Amino acid sequence: MDLNIGVDIGGTKILCGLIDHKNGCVVNTVKKKTNISNDICQTTAKLIDELIESSNVTLSQIGKIGVGAAGQIDRTNGVILSSPNLRNCQNLNIKKYFENKYKIPVSVGNDVETATLGEMTYGAGKEYRDFMCIFVGTGIGGGLVIDRKIIKGASGTAGEIGHIKINLNGKKCGCGKNGCLEAYASRSAIENNILNAIKNGENSYILSLIEGGNKKITSNIIKKCVEKNDKVVLNALSEASDYLSFGLASIINLINPQCIILGGGLINAVDKFYNMTIEKTKCEALNIAIEKTFFAKSLLGDNAGIIGASLL
Ligand SMILES: [Zn+2]
Repeated sequence: MDLNIGVDIGGTKILCGLIDHKNGCVVNTVKKKTNISNDICQTTAKLIDELIESSNVTLSQIGKIGVGAAGQIDRTNGVILSSPNLRNCQNLNIKKYFENKYKIPVSVGNDVETATLGEMTYGAGKEYRDFMCIFVGTGIGGGLVIDRKIIKGASGTAGEIGHIKINLNGKKCGCGKNGCLEAYASRSAIENNILNAIKNGENSYILSLIEGGNKKITSNIIKKCVEKNDKVVLNALSEASDYLSFGLASIINLINPQCIILGGGLINAVDKFYNMTIEKTKCEALNIAIEKTFFAKSLLGDNAGIIGASLL
């Protein structure tokens, strides 16, 4: 086997996997919830140690460590420059830390980039030359592939579909600006809409699942409400899919991709949201542009990031 370690450091969890990078096979994984007040490097190193031990391999059998982290990355030096979801990681040199500790090569990229690389090599993007991966979860991330190359752009931020503008003077976004797609169509936006409806006196099945509003509305909780045909949740999903379809139609009109690959917690959990978004996108995009565009769900799911990171 040709073993590498792939690490996915996100705002919610850190996932580490032992990957056979010649076929994309995930041999073993370990994960932990992200705690931004802890030292991210130390926490990740503990996970890597745990992964190596529980896989019955030695460090000498591992070729390299690839890390995908949420945020803006200096890929040459392996530094997290800034990250809204990993606030303590500003200017954090991950590459140096892990190379000093493990004495094997370390590469660092952005988490959406690594997930896109995973889908391109072993997942839903395997057959396509030009496509875009869009991940809908806490935020909305995107990776754009043209001619089998991930487009990075002048400062490495290409593909940020979550921050395309869909509303003049619109809602405040996590990026500090207004009117971004993410503020209308992410799981967090849906969560806000559901909580607002409840505040305004609407009754919802979700109340029995979130213990009076103290618990986070996860994608799985949304899924359970859809199964119960809950009106408040269905309305919030429908509104989010209206906005998401506008974003997707804009991408289709702009780059005319062969495929749009949708992934992330909300897409994986809620089929209805995936299906209605596609139907609406088909109506909104230019007919000639969408004629040859396919839609697919991410094939690698949660493992896309670690598989892609092992290939960096
Ligand atoms: Zn934004």
